[in-house]
Amino acid sequence: MLARCEKASEPSGLYGIRVEERSDAWYATWGFALNQRRATRERYGDTVVRSSLLLADGFPGCPHCEAASFVQCGTCQRLTCWDGAVRVWHCRWTPCRGSGVPGGAIERFGRHGDV
Ligand SMILES: [Zn+2]
Ligand SMILES: [Zn+2]
Repeated sequence: MLARCEKASEPSGLYGIRVEERSDAWYATWGFALNQRRATRERYGDTVVRSSLLLADGFPGCPHCEAASFVQCGTCQRLTCWDGAVRVWHCRWTPCRGSGVPGGAIERFGRHGDV
């Protein structure tokens, strides 16, 4: 899945999150830096998985700023990292200007390839 770093401005800050299906839920297991070209070439599908997404033990967080978590935007459904230090989170996917106070678990997530 693709995500953006909240602390980096475009076009940098893109990263990938590897997810793994386990018996109870999907888990985010790894985060890795990604450039725009590679993200486009690999054509991340846009499958929407209706399941909750949790952080696996050892999930390294954002490869850019090391934020431990990430938030799914309520407006565009995309992911942006979040370190929990600031209450209000901002979506970094332009032109979306979503922001808010994160809460709850991600219940439904998709893999967007149209970057
Ligand atoms: Zn980050
Ligand atoms: Zn958004």
